[in-house]
Amino acid sequence: MLKVTKFGGSSMADAGQYRKVKEIVLSDPARKVVVVSAAGKRYSADHKITDLLYLCHAHTQYGVDCSGVFNMITSRYLEVRDKLKLNVDLEGEFAELKARLDAKKVSQDELVSRGEYFSAKLIAAFLGYKFVDATEWVKFNLDGSVDKRATYEAFRRVAKGSGVVTPGFYGVMPNGAIKTFSRGGSDITGALAAAALNASVYENWTDVSGLLMADPRIVENPQTIPEVTYDELRELSYSGAQVLHEDTIFPVREKNIPLNIRNTNEPDHPGTIIQEKFLTSGDSERFITGITGKKNFSIVHLSKRGLSNEVGLLRRILSVYERHQISVVYVPNGIDNVSIVVETDELDRCRYALLADVQQDIRPDTLTVFDEIAVVAAVGRQMANRPGISGKIFAALGKSDINIRFITQSPDELNIIFGVENKNFNKAIQVLYNSFAK
Ligand code: ASP
Repeated sequence: MLKVTKFGGSSMADAGQYRKVKEIVLSDPARKVVVVSAAGKRYSADHKITDLLYLCHAHTQYGVDCSGVFNMITSRYLEVRDKLKLNVDLEGEFAELKARLDAKKVSQDELVSRGEYFSAKLIAAFLGYKFVDATEWVKFNLDGSVDKRATYEAFRRVAKGSGVVTPGFYGVMPNGAIKTFSRGGSDITGALAAAALNASVYENWTDVSGLLMADPRIVENPQTIPEVTYDELRELSYSGAQVLHEDTIFPVREKNIPLNIRNTNEPDHPGTIIQEKFLTSGDSERFITGITGKKNFSIVHLSKRGLSNEVGLLRRILSVYERHQISVVYVPNGIDNVSIVVETDELDRCRYALLADVQQDIRPDTLTVFDEIAVVAAVGRQMANRPGISGKIFAALGKSDINIRFITQSPDELNIIFGVENKNFNKAIQVLYNSFAK
């Protein structure tokens, strides 16, 4: 069994965090591969090393001396090294880097990649694992995509044997130049390492104990989601917060390797497992995996006698939105009426021009806009083929006096989505959570 572990910036922020990382890694002999981020913030007003490195590069671009920022960066690493009494020569590398930087011989990508590089050097020494540079195995194509075959092959070769630490966030172009992923890209490196070795799990260690069933700013102490599929995750992130970037997960998703989100500060918590499919439903009482939503939608409602009999009318209505480059979110409809649900911000770019076009092209009997609408989505693969869930949802909302403005459910039954007034948004989420969280 082999586990690939990735530790994010908050797990690498200072010597105390390094100690936790060491304990986690060495407590399980399967944790043979460690991917790390650059040091993150130690407290909220602190700086991330990666941000400081970007700043440093900007200084040199404008011919401003960056020694102050550079010293802030190096002192963070020296402090960790000295506190942990590690025997790693950083001074030599720092001096060489600074000299090349002053001579404008370091690209932005190379400079910012040093955050991960020095983290990996130090934690490798601390764990007694082998340091493998990302330039030895993460290979980009000329168009900036990852050359997966070459990358996987190279990693299998260099990661052979005992424990290995490798920096996240960057790799090499065919000409040998360092290239970084987009921000947060160490997650991708971890996923590539896991895919290359067909790991049994990809553990992504961060500072939260997995994904939560609802927004903690709305629901007090929401439960963690123990298991979630990628499809559910898409639904959950669509209408609410972005949980994981899709690029991040494609290598493990392709190979069906479970991704486990874990908390470095609470290592005994099992976190959340994300996977394509779960064979058994771990907890069959859990019909709803998560509840999410977003405020500030508008419903553009039109009615027209004979609408449902007129072939092509819906297309003509939608083409007005297309012409104005407004993305249509939901289209609940009746026989002779249809509602187009859009984000209010988008509508406001061209509200009156759009309405005038709808009026002219469609000639509706009525055309009304309702603003201040919030969308709430209850997401859960276990809702499929199980009667009574929507009944329970709407009964709970009714009992709490929450009026529902529209309802849609996808036929795959992965979600039930409904619109309420903005002012009822928090309450709707709380009512659902309290009815379904076990
Ligand atoms: N250090 C990089 C960033 O802050 C990459 C990462 O941490 O994943 O974006």
